[in-house]
Amino acid sequence: MEKFEKILIAQRDYFGSQATKPVNFRITQLKRLRDVLKSNETKMNDAIYADFKKSRFDTFTNELALLYLDIDEAIRNLPKWSKRKRVGTNLINFPAKSYIYPEPIGSSLIIGAWNYPFQLSFAPVIAAIAAGNTVVLKPSEVPSATSAIISQIVNDTFDKKYFYVVEGGVPETTELLKLKWDKIFFTGSVPVGKIVYKAAAENLTPVTLELGGKSPAIVTSKADINLAVKRIVWGKFLNAGQTCIAPDYVIVDEAVEKEFISKLVKRIEEMKFSFENENYVQIINEKNMDRLSKLLEEDKIIYGGEIDMDKRYFSPTVMRDVSFDDKVMQDEIFGPILPIISYSNLDDAIRRIKQLPKPLSCYLFTKESGTKRKVLRELSFGGGAVNDTIMHITNSKLPFGGVGSSGIGNYHGQAGFDAFTHNKSVLDKGTWFDPDFKYPPYSEKKIKWLRWLLRI
Ligand code: NAD
Repeated sequence: MEKFEKILIAQRDYFGSQATKPVNFRITQLKRLRDVLKSNETKMNDAIYADFKKSRFDTFTNELALLYLDIDEAIRNLPKWSKRKRVGTNLINFPAKSYIYPEPIGSSLIIGAWNYPFQLSFAPVIAAIAAGNTVVLKPSEVPSATSAIISQIVNDTFDKKYFYVVEGGVPETTELLKLKWDKIFFTGSVPVGKIVYKAAAENLTPVTLELGGKSPAIVTSKADINLAVKRIVWGKFLNAGQTCIAPDYVIVDEAVEKEFISKLVKRIEEMKFSFENENYVQIINEKNMDRLSKLLEEDKIIYGGEIDMDKRYFSPTVMRDVSFDDKVMQDEIFGPILPIISYSNLDDAIRRIKQLPKPLSCYLFTKESGTKRKVLRELSFGGGAVNDTIMHITNSKLPFGGVGSSGIGNYHGQAGFDAFTHNKSVLDKGTWFDPDFKYPPYSEKKIKWLRWLLRI
């Protein structure tokens, strides 16, 4: 405890010294982070491969490239994002000017999840640095080699009074959560999200919670089935289904179910998912292998279901004739099992989806604009795509985050900057005019004047 508290005190002092606030300082730190990531790519690739056989291609496309793009975007936009903004002033305040000062919140704690360990650790860090905060990062301990390299890279490069990595699991995170941070940014599961929220409430610390849920892929009878299959297979089996925004299950119009399933199975075969082809990863640990294997129901498996505990291999698996009451539909799957549920009526499908907690994502496959409007109007979800999966995360103009139990707040691009920023509102009042309306003694005449002024 003492050690963590000392770090927080040092970071608070450093923040108080104003050192982290100038835009040039923030840009220098972002460049430093980019340089150190670039020069350590080989070590990072080796670490993540050792943890769960994630390939260099996947590590580049869905971890590092996103971070480099984030850094470049923040550097480009920082002068604009951090600038004082003048807004209008209402008549009652005449004469005055009104400003919004975006100011860093202070000392931030960032807690990462294991499934995209570099991206989920550093993307919030980039936002925190861009916004002018100090950072303590606690990456997930589950991919241990990755956690170690993150800590080594950061702690060898940055002064701990500014940016420091604490490695550890539940005991360390529990201790960190007892401290009074100015901001906590958490990525992880719903149950741990609740623990973080409770701890933050003790200190009235604002939080961003990036959680999970069961994200549906809705395939309507008017979908381009070939494309739907291609994009769902990619989004589901990327990272062996261990993706927070992976389509968790498919709900398909019974009119096209047969065609969808036969094309789906063919597509999975064509993809030749394997460790050897470097397009498939291990399940992160035995605990998750065990958890996933318990979700299988033999009579519903129509493809896959092969498991090798020693190699932590869980083959792409499809289950058919699944109902919302089945085991596999009770919690987020977070693995390579794709349940397929059919519907005969879109309204019923929407009603059933609505009975589950609001998902992090939703994917709709249709060519009909009426269906698109209907689903987007009626279903609430964090974010998603029409006729695609996953890819909305790559557009940093789209704030990324959940709603309801899939999360609180969002980030990426300017939304990330805003997540670590307080908008300080200031009314800068002129001194040459000070009408009497608001001061006693009160009178009917003053009320009349005020009514006239306020038009009420
Ligand atoms: P997790 O909740 O088990 O762990 C997340 C972090 O919390 C880790 O750093 C871990 O050390 C810490 N932690 C775990 N138990 C704790 C406890 N009892 N007290 C304090 N800290 C604790 O989540 P995970 O297994 O790493 O990740 C999987 C989950 O994260 C899935 O639900 C997934 O949907 C979600 N996720 C969400 C996003 C998103 O952006 N919304 C991204 C990735 C993963």
